[in-house]
Amino acid sequence: MSSETMPNWLAKRADLTPKRIAIENEEEKMTFKELNEQAKIMARQVASLDIEDEENIALLLKNDFPAIILIHALAYLDVTLVFLNTRLSPKELAFQVQDAGVKRLIYADNYEELVVKINLACQQEKVNLKFKLETISIKQLSTLKEMEIPLQTEINLAKIHSIIYTSGTTGTPKGVTLSYGNHFWSAVGSCLNLGLDNNDTWLLALPIFHVSGLSILMRSVIYGIRIVVHENFEAQKVNQSLLNHGVTLISVVSIQLQKMLDNLKQDSYPSSLRCVLLGGGFVPRSLLEESQKRKIPVFQTYGMTETASQIVTLSPEYLTSKLGSAGKPLFPAQLKIMSKDQEIINEVGEIVVKGPSVTKGYYHNEKATKEAFKEGWIYTGDLGYVDEEGFLYIVDRRSDLIISGGENIYPAEIETVLLTHPDVEEVGVTGMDDEKWGKVPIAFIKVKESKNRKNNQAIIDNKNNEDIKYFKDTKLLAHQLQHYCGERLAKYKVPTRIIFVESLPRNASNKLLRRKLLEYLN
Ligand code: ATP
Ligand code: MG
Repeated sequence: MSSETMPNWLAKRADLTPKRIAIENEEEKMTFKELNEQAKIMARQVASLDIEDEENIALLLKNDFPAIILIHALAYLDVTLVFLNTRLSPKELAFQVQDAGVKRLIYADNYEELVVKINLACQQEKVNLKFKLETISIKQLSTLKEMEIPLQTEINLAKIHSIIYTSGTTGTPKGVTLSYGNHFWSAVGSCLNLGLDNNDTWLLALPIFHVSGLSILMRSVIYGIRIVVHENFEAQKVNQSLLNHGVTLISVVSIQLQKMLDNLKQDSYPSSLRCVLLGGGFVPRSLLEESQKRKIPVFQTYGMTETASQIVTLSPEYLTSKLGSAGKPLFPAQLKIMSKDQEIINEVGEIVVKGPSVTKGYYHNEKATKEAFKEGWIYTGDLGYVDEEGFLYIVDRRSDLIISGGENIYPAEIETVLLTHPDVEEVGVTGMDDEKWGKVPIAFIKVKESKNRKNNQAIIDNKNNEDIKYFKDTKLLAHQLQHYCGERLAKYKVPTRIIFVESLPRNASNKLLRRKLLEYLN
């Protein structure tokens, strides 16, 4: 292990700028000094649990002060934090607890029931735990007597800080190991692109168990900036914060930004909001255009759990001229597009990245690590292209590519077109076997329940019947939608079937699971 060390980030921050506000929510505020004091107390309380060196501790947290204190507390101990997604099923969580070799689970007080179910799932699924799972709530933890131990005031950058599971969009979630160095370089890379102001305030409404949320906590202590903490994402509350609380930066995914814009009574936000970081999944062009029209500074970003959040982000200078691009790799990072072992430009290939924020590999998963890495570069499984000036455009996931009669079809392109149709609320496109073409694209659509729809157009059928909420005249609308695509896309990209559904399959991060769409046909 490299011996590069740094002072504990929160300790350093509390020393440099003790009086600055570190975290704030509707009820309270806490300075860096106070946060540090609380974290040290909690670290000694955790230590009293008789933890082992290098223990992996699982966390089921919500976005609140105790959770943030706990995360910083654990950095004072020789442990690794395993972040669990609270929206997963007990069975899925039991798998992750086993996979990460966890012995102890610390949970936010409201997850008592879920914890019981995880334990049950471990027994029922015959999950082969190395240890009996010990569980304790943060509330119980905070009543424990502190153990007088020397806290780790120095951190080794190579040491693993966290294991975060990927969203499981393309398969079973994989445990990504992220070192202190990965998190540090991610924070530095972001700041070298977006700049830093001492009055910056980042709104945290993304879950802290995802790297997108956790990275905001890291930036806060590294930069010395305030975080406004929201327990959940609620568009109206987020807008209130953006309008009234001096927020300068916020990270969102597309669906959230759309809700914010729909909910915003005025045209734009105050000019103090200097960056809306938009990524984590597909970004519809229509959303970028609407934001631009409303003078909202939306920066598209591309990243993954494996890269400790952003690795490519559009710079402020190019917001208008490169609309639709995710930008260039951040200062410490590199990017190339590969096809058949050749680097290419201006053509679609696999996005491959490298940099100090990139994980060294998946936890205890040599096979997946080997598959993803080649000569220090990580093959992301995402398809995209760079233009002559080196700007990245993301096209789709490699695993979702449809090859039809030898032509490549990207579901995202068809989805983008369908999403601009006034009757379409959500859409998922996938390939279906076809004798003649090999595969053909088909689309699954959730329609908008528009109040203004005229009687002679499609309406949601039989509102009281839970099972049938399909369009009354599905054939007509399906035909209209195919025609709509035909006017905007090459013929081979027009979905051969349109299937109306009540909801689309999504994972716990709300990402569309295209691999499950065909199950709807059974
Ligand atoms: P799994 O790896 O388990 O299949 P996942 O890839 O969805 O799940 P995450 O690490 O949460 O897990 O998400 C990273 C992925 O999100 C990227 O690989 C990419 O597919 C997608 N993504 C991120 N930013 C963008 C963006 N700006 N545009 C399109 N897709 C994006
Ligand atoms: Mg992934």
